[in-house]
Amino acid sequence: CKFIVVTGGVLSGIGKGVTASSIGVLCKMMGLRPTAIKIDPYLNVDAGTMSPFEHGEVFVLDDGGETDLDLGNYERFMGVNLRNESNLTTGKIYQYVIEKERRGDYLGKTVQVVPHITDALQDWIVGVSKKPVDNSDQEPDVCIIELGGTLGDIESMPFVEALRQLQDRVGYKNCCFVHVSLVPSLGSPGEQKTKPTQHSIKQMRALGLAPDFLMCRGGKPVVEGARDKLSMFCQVPPERVVSVHDVSNIYHVPLLLLEQNFPALLAQRLRMGPRHSPEACE
Ligand code: ADP
Repeated sequence: CKFIVVTGGVLSGIGKGVTASSIGVLCKMMGLRPTAIKIDPYLNVDAGTMSPFEHGEVFVLDDGGETDLDLGNYERFMGVNLRNESNLTTGKIYQYVIEKERRGDYLGKTVQVVPHITDALQDWIVGVSKKPVDNSDQEPDVCIIELGGTLGDIESMPFVEALRQLQDRVGYKNCCFVHVSLVPSLGSPGEQKTKPTQHSIKQMRALGLAPDFLMCRGGKPVVEGARDKLSMFCQVPPERVVSVHDVSNIYHVPLLLLEQNFPALLAQRLRMGPRHSPEACE
């Protein structure tokens, strides 16, 4: 299974969920079977007890799992049926590790965030990535992982570290990082500003993650000058700087990615071979 990790920078609500779902659509077009995991770094075990005024409605899965709304987006975009474990929260992973500790499974060891929580997170992700989520009853080919919140949040640190280690565990060619960031336009000429994204990538690299794709959200398509600047300062090849500007309907976002040759670039980065080449999309 290949892993595609979607992170977000600068501000919340940047479009990570829509980007993750759209990548799933494109994976399906490439003839791959996608699955998805949403990471919510809060201490609630699930979204069932959270106020809809604060958090939006709860999305209930077929297995009764009470989850984040993003899971609904994934299911609709990708045509899959996810499971309760597909929504991973801090509460769930701590509950799992603490129950193991109470059973004595750690054999007297000091149980710590690193390595016990981070190992449990990786095992959980790898476990979920193998579970069929469509009618074919076959293992998924691609697992899209969305890390909720903004990169650098205190709450998400164990997840970031686990994802960093996951890339080592499964290999560089099997795991890539997609970072969604803000490229705002300021002033009357509407010059596109790259600094918020530069800072966000600096933060990302400080945490040990290297971006493979930069998804730029803003009011307008990213212009050539801004793309070149982002590419140079963020050390991402210009063709992998992708514009996910505001569109009237979120179902247009997969088309935006398709227009910018994202499937071929993804296939190349994850060595997905000729069966999964862009021709397969047509
Ligand atoms: P996040 O997962 O980063 O919190 P979401 O994917 O939930 O963000 O998106 C936040 C909001 O922005 C949603 O209402 C979504 O419909 C909207 N949105 C996301 N991407 C776009 C886009 N390219 N154009 C217009 N609206 C978008």
